Amino acid sequence: GAGVAEADPAVNGSIQRELGRQREEIELIASENIVSKAVLEAQGSVLTNKYAEGYPGRRYYGGCAYVDEVEELARERAKSLFDCTYANVQPNSGSQANQSVFLALMSPGDTFLGLNLAAGGHLTHGAKANMSGKWFNAVSYSVRPDDHRIDLDEVRDLALKHRPKVILAGGSAYPRVIDFKAFREISDEVGAKLFVDMAHFAGLVAGGIHPNPLAHAHVVTTTTHKTLRGPRGGMVLSNDEEIGRKIDSAVFPGLQGGPLMHVIAAKAVAFGEALTPAFKGYAATVVANAKALAETLADGGVDIVSGGTDTHLMLVDLRRKNLTGKAVEAALGRAHITCNKNGIPFDPQGPTVTSGVRLGTPACTTRGFDVADFREVGRMTMRVIDGLASNGEEGNAAVEAEVREEAQALVRRFPIYD
Ligand code: PLP
Repeated sequence: GAGVAEADPAVNGSIQRELGRQREEIELIASENIVSKAVLEAQGSVLTNKYAEGYPGRRYYGGCAYVDEVEELARERAKSLFDCTYANVQPNSGSQANQSVFLALMSPGDTFLGLNLAAGGHLTHGAKANMSGKWFNAVSYSVRPDDHRIDLDEVRDLALKHRPKVILAGGSAYPRVIDFKAFREISDEVGAKLFVDMAHFAGLVAGGIHPNPLAHAHVVTTTTHKTLRGPRGGMVLSNDEEIGRKIDSAVFPGLQGGPLMHVIAAKAVAFGEALTPAFKGYAATVVANAKALAETLADGGVDIVSGGTDTHLMLVDLRRKNLTGKAVEAALGRAHITCNKNGIPFDPQGPTVTSGVRLGTPACTTRGFDVADFREVGRMTMRVIDGLASNGEEGNAAVEAEVREEAQALVRRFPIYD
């Protein structure tokens, strides 16, 4: 039969325009990356046709010999990548991976601690609108107002007061290394299980540039599509056999039906890539690039939340320029620099406006950007921000057009999917 270009020009047109957008824009969304052709091909494979409820060697469908091989490869590679004894590679997303931990370790109404959404936590860590906040008693801890680091004294006080079943560490907009050992000590003191969500920084752990939470946590979840540079999906890891058994039943049949075997194949390919020495270099460059970008922005007169970054991401506090995240996201977008508005700790603005933007280096580092390129991106970003600061919501159209030209010249030096 025909390929998508011939069979469905409408959908193909959108795919081609999206490819063009990805080629032409400087991608600074911290949770995105650019997967290899091998990952794309595995995800686009015939494995999408296969039902495989269950786990390798114990499926509820025939014909699973080859998908069993693929899931075994994914599990074994995940275990060696993160130095652990248990892996479940079936969660369809990071949110479902997190739900599986809740289902395995808690009952509705039970108490857990998580990082406040407004301080960098994720929706699934107890936000009111999310199942985690509706079905469980979610108590949130925050960061200190002065240095924006997680307030471990508050975590301990809340743990002693509320006696949670689970303590959850990790976030979507927290730029610093988390003290997993201290979290484990607090968990042990109150008899809670320590659950780390490393969705954002998993690739940095895999690349050896960031502490491994599996050294301390009872259970760890991740997405596979951020710094880890795999297909969109989730995963659960542990060193505890009993927790592993509970997670297996929570993922299937607890939450999901047939696993997405084509995505699991792509996860296996991505984990294989992450096991190579080249990936260590990638992870180190991601962090060096983030530090260079944060420094350049700070030199340009904006505050960086917590004063900098240890990871791939930073939160820019725009209040000194009297600007909102909403206006800056739009202005940078006009200049072909893509990012997202993001609340900063104790943000005076609401979540649809915000006083910050979140920037990250994983995608452009995959393209080949180095520290000098990211300093250039930082200067371009500041020109757009200053154009806004002196011209109001409209921004400075001439500066934005100039930066857009420069952005195009820069990304064309680093082509993707040729
Ligand atoms: N956990 C954290 C820390 C995240 O940042 C995200 C994604 O934004 C998720 C979980 C959820 O992942 P997904 O979008 O795949 O459901």
